[in-house]
Amino acid sequence: MEKKVRVRYAPSPTGFLHIGGARSALFNYLYAKKYNGDFVFRIEDTDIERNVKGGEESQLNDLMWLGIVPDESPMNPNPKYAPYRQMERIETYHKYAQWLIDHGYAYECYCNEEELDASREEQYSRGINAPKYDRHCLNLTEEEKEKYRKEGRKPCIRLKLQDHLEISFNDLIRGKVTFNNDDIGDWVIMKSSGIPTYNFAVVIDDHLMEISHVLRGEEHLSNTPKQIQLYKYFGWEVPTFGHMTIIINENGKKLSKRDNNILQFMSQYRELGYLPEAIFNFILLLGWTPNSEKEFFTLEEAKHEFDPSRMSSSPSMFDQNKMNWMNAQYIRKLDEKKYLEFIKPFLAKVVDITKVSDEKLLFMANMFKEEIQYGQEIVNLLKPLFEYHLDESDEAKEILALETTPLVVKEFIKQIDNVNDLEQDTLKMMFKNIATSTGVKGKNLYMPIRLLLTGQMHGAEIVNIIKLLGKEEVLKRVSK
Ligand code: GLU
Repeated sequence: MEKKVRVRYAPSPTGFLHIGGARSALFNYLYAKKYNGDFVFRIEDTDIERNVKGGEESQLNDLMWLGIVPDESPMNPNPKYAPYRQMERIETYHKYAQWLIDHGYAYECYCNEEELDASREEQYSRGINAPKYDRHCLNLTEEEKEKYRKEGRKPCIRLKLQDHLEISFNDLIRGKVTFNNDDIGDWVIMKSSGIPTYNFAVVIDDHLMEISHVLRGEEHLSNTPKQIQLYKYFGWEVPTFGHMTIIINENGKKLSKRDNNILQFMSQYRELGYLPEAIFNFILLLGWTPNSEKEFFTLEEAKHEFDPSRMSSSPSMFDQNKMNWMNAQYIRKLDEKKYLEFIKPFLAKVVDITKVSDEKLLFMANMFKEEIQYGQEIVNLLKPLFEYHLDESDEAKEILALETTPLVVKEFIKQIDNVNDLEQDTLKMMFKNIATSTGVKGKNLYMPIRLLLTGQMHGAEIVNIIKLLGKEEVLKRVSK
């Protein structure tokens, strides 16, 4: 029987869900769903100083927001594999570390920071530019260890690498990759605090949780030979690895979490009014090229059409404009009810929406449905309709000071008073009539009215504004 596909997304709870993490999670998820497998969410929290409160929860919530629901997680454990947080699995790591020591594959190291630094310096001075652990503690006798312990030193545990061993694996995305153990060094599997390092814990967990495929970011590529060495010592089957390319910004530089000019966290998208379906689609295309011209995928479609052999092997560019464009497409596709619900929380920031009917809100929001790229944008567009602030620019002043303006306004007041309804056709006809009777056309006709009605030179179509404000309010504003 074919082995069941089991994949995992294993974030460290050190912050919010980042676009890179979301991409790893998404492709693991799709991989699982494509092959009827399981998608596991595991927490790698051994770097305790960097853990943040609420990190796990927000990662999980943001994944769910995107529609990526784990089959197993700390909240939804399978007893066969639990627990799902590494700090709750410490005993297990100790057991396996001891096994490695007992079989001569690992050893205690008592060197302190100064000694390690000195050894590195000494290697640099000999022209070695990638110094390694010098194996000072490899063959310590019991007496020597005892002496160190008496000095109060606590050992860490290092893995004893097989010398000259070439480690190759077939990466799902980049093909054959080869490393040589001689370029690595006996690395620490257990810190002196008794907490395992990432490279050690990840192997134990992936094995015990029966993970079949490991899809993760390129930054982990150089960790893979370390991990494979462990699989070899334990005699365990090595999972299939796939390393996704880095995400770069428009200047070709690796996306940095510290770059505040670029939105990178799911929480930011959520707050600004990006739709999860749009972000999902954007991330999908950030690591994978479909076999057709198709540009929009639902989660269900992605599950079926995803083909791992088409995952990109060159860096993916994060293009904010494309993301905005994509989000705009999804906004346009919302039906009226969904659009209204989507836009309401943003409007609620500028106006007491309980005082305005849904019908009116929808009318207002619809004026910009084709225009906005994300929800928050509606706020500035609609604000002038709720509160009047006159544009103080020279251009606006010039328009109000035009010789023809008093005439236009007088005629507008007269005609608006006489129309029977405020429908588009009626109002358009009315403006034509004003043009005929005053001889003023175009900008000089519309701009003064717009300024008096909204205070702004730009915004919604004038006929829509009139309908929205109602005759009484329109008269009030222009008569001022
Ligand atoms: N905790 C690691 C990270 O957040 C996971 C790496 C892996 O998938 O092996 O990068």
